Amino acid sequence: MADGKRVTIVGGGPVGALNACYLSKKGYIVDLYESRSDIRKTENAVGRSINLALSLRGIEALKEVGLDEKVKALGIPMRARMIHLVNGKCYPVPYGKSGQHLLSVDRMKLNRDVLSAASEFPNVDLHFNHKFVSCDLATAKSTFVKTSPQLPDKEEVTITSDAIFGCDGAHSAVRRQLQKRRFDYSQQYIPHGYKELTIPPTEDGKYAMPANYLHIWPRHEFMLIALPNQDMSFTCTLFMAFSIFDTLTTEQKVLDFFREVFPSAVDLIGEELLKTDFFLLPPLPMVTVKASPYHYKDKVVLFGDAAHACVPFYGQGLNAGLEDVLVFHEILEKHNYAFDVAFSAFSEQRSKDGHAVADLSHQNYIEMRSSVTSSWFLFRKKVDSLLSFLCPSVFTPKYEMVAFTRTPYHKVIEKSELQYKYVNYGLAALCVLMFIGGSRLAWKAHKGELHMSELPHLESLLAIKNRFQNLV
Ligand code: FAD
Repeated sequence: MADGKRVTIVGGGPVGALNACYLSKKGYIVDLYESRSDIRKTENAVGRSINLALSLRGIEALKEVGLDEKVKALGIPMRARMIHLVNGKCYPVPYGKSGQHLLSVDRMKLNRDVLSAASEFPNVDLHFNHKFVSCDLATAKSTFVKTSPQLPDKEEVTITSDAIFGCDGAHSAVRRQLQKRRFDYSQQYIPHGYKELTIPPTEDGKYAMPANYLHIWPRHEFMLIALPNQDMSFTCTLFMAFSIFDTLTTEQKVLDFFREVFPSAVDLIGEELLKTDFFLLPPLPMVTVKASPYHYKDKVVLFGDAAHACVPFYGQGLNAGLEDVLVFHEILEKHNYAFDVAFSAFSEQRSKDGHAVADLSHQNYIEMRSSVTSSWFLFRKKVDSLLSFLCPSVFTPKYEMVAFTRTPYHKVIEKSELQYKYVNYGLAALCVLMFIGGSRLAWKAHKGELHMSELPHLESLLAIKNRFQNLV
């Protein structure tokens, strides 16, 4: 099937490493080049998010190479969002049906495990400290420089292979090569940045909050979230406009700000740790990348963030990247391992999904930082759960489709827009019926013709009307 073909993978992040496993399983000779040194031999890098939410798409992709059980065993299930209000009150909002959950996993450990799995294949060579700089698209000849601090002369290495897989993240150098051709590309930085903080374990070594939740402190314009770690700590991420970050210039200002908007989080983080952690690193930016096509002939193809980086509010960036690998190999098999047809079919199918996951992630920021506190949102969640319980084959809530199914992202948007419209029509029709019924009863009551047996109907209608008025 692979006919002794040699392939180059650029980037040893989780997507590149998983792709190396898949390609080598199919018999390709794989050379993976990574600009950093081997993370399996180094401490965790400071400032990179140490955990992330993995859901069905990522887990399904890992299953193919037998890594799903390992990841599930170490991941911490998060069954619902736990909403923290300013007044200290909390309430859970489930993600899906009972049994459906996200997994909080250690990002670095996941990357190390996938790299180790790749290194076990005899036909995979991992080359660390090799930074991709350019390539000749017509021949798939790529040039790297060695980046080790012991090599100040920046020695160049040139490699020719049958194809290049660009898995080198949001600022992809492989993508830059495609941009020299007919290639659509856009990038958008949002006005918000993020900063990571830690909620340490309690003095007796326990979680400071219930562990099986993704905790959210939504404050409309900004939010704080926290995901549990194996060591009983939580990693918090503060998402906020750079313009607000810029005002928090002293320890006192940070403490005052947190005491005002996240009082419960101050107690959990601790004032001293908050003061030091907050100034460790500047807030980091978040970018959305949309590109099309994802390939050049049978020579180059992009996967993961290199093809479709998105803001992290649906927890789908990595899930989508890992799913790219799965989708590509499904397509490759279908097209009898012919790179030319498979690259273009993958590009056609997956770029629609790359654009869709970027849009979904943008929309979910508003849901996470604001809508989760509105009664209308909570009411609609209940209606959605009821409909999905009553007619599961017809109705699936949007979040469930994204996180717990492999429905292509662009179809999720199409289907959820349609569902949203019909549910709104249904609710409007119900309101009209209740209004007509209520008016009839009220008219009868006014004329003194109301039968005693009809009184409870009138009372329930009035109660529903009041409840509905409160919601909207
Ligand atoms: P990367 O992880 O960026 O890996 C790219 C690799 O390529 C790196 O190892 C890099 O060193 C290497 N490289 C770069 N340039 C070169 C070069 N020129 N030559 C050689 N090597 C190179 N996703 C989720 O699914 N769930 C979440 O909960 C989630 N939370 C997130 C929270 C935050 C704050 C952020 C910022 C992102 C989050 N994401 C999440 C997104 C997720 O981190 C990314 O989608 C994922 O890391 C992409 O994987 P990748 O392998 O494509 O790219």
